[in-house]
Amino acid sequence: MNITLEQKIEPNKAYITGASSGIGAAFAKKLAKDHDIVIIARDTERLNQLAEDIKKNSDSKVDIIEADLTKSTDLKKIVKMVTTDKNLSLLVNNAGYGTTGKFVDLKIDQEINQINLNIVALVRLTHAALTNFKSKIGGAIINVASIAGFLPAPYNATYAATKSFVRSFTEAIHKEYKDSGIVLQTLCPGFTKTEFQTRANFDESKIPGFLWMDAADVVKESLEALEREQSICIPGLANKSLTTLLDVLPKNLVQQIADIMLK
Ligand code: NAP
Repeated sequence: MNITLEQKIEPNKAYITGASSGIGAAFAKKLAKDHDIVIIARDTERLNQLAEDIKKNSDSKVDIIEADLTKSTDLKKIVKMVTTDKNLSLLVNNAGYGTTGKFVDLKIDQEINQINLNIVALVRLTHAALTNFKSKIGGAIINVASIAGFLPAPYNATYAATKSFVRSFTEAIHKEYKDSGIVLQTLCPGFTKTEFQTRANFDESKIPGFLWMDAADVVKESLEALEREQSICIPGLANKSLTTLLDVLPKNLVQQIADIMLK
């Protein structure tokens, strides 16, 4: 009988960062069907609302943690929980944001803060979860990158670079854990209907409709890929085709198209 990843990593408790909206909230709703969940973000009102909605359809336990992962005291608190929680089976490092504009015109503190959230918090929490998994048969980590991490993105420079880091970092560690029962997935969504674009001050109207996905569909593909122990998940046919084209088209042409879309 084949043992599924879920069976290997029981007991099932999932920690999800950035769960108050978008992809993180979609992960929380889906994972609560068969996991106890810990949902983490700054906005506790929204986390409470999400927990209430989830409890209408699930018997799973939902813990709410208020944390700003760019603040070292808050991050330390979550690192300790992730390191020591005996029931941890899955960590979803999802919290992240982007900025849009010519780099020199953007507020430097916001760019550094972005690196602290998209990279520093993710690296610390990945380390914490792997430390926890040392005493277990298995475990899983999903690190949310982006298709923006596949190429340098002018007017999105810091964001794309942070996501390129997440991709390289996660793929490398996935290889360190080959055949160990511990799985790391790099999730690379494309344009997904969430609050991300508004927060990033990004003009959504430039992006053709067929490139957009719903957060719930992104999460469904990610968890199906995790079940197959797939190291990278690029949800949606359009995004898969786009990233394949990035590998085969001349780099100059790709960069010109990206410039037009992102400017
Ligand atoms: P979203 O709706 O804006 O959600 C972002 C989440 O991150 C929110 O729950 C937010 O909660 C949390 N967050 C932001 N700053 C935080 C901080 N300092 N500490 C803790 N939590 C923080 O955007 P989303 O699209 O779901 O984004 C989720 C992930 O997907 C991000 O890593 C993003 O880069 C990636 N992604 C998104 C797209 C897209 O098109 N939407 C595409 C590719 C990749 P609070 O404000 O309550 O803290």
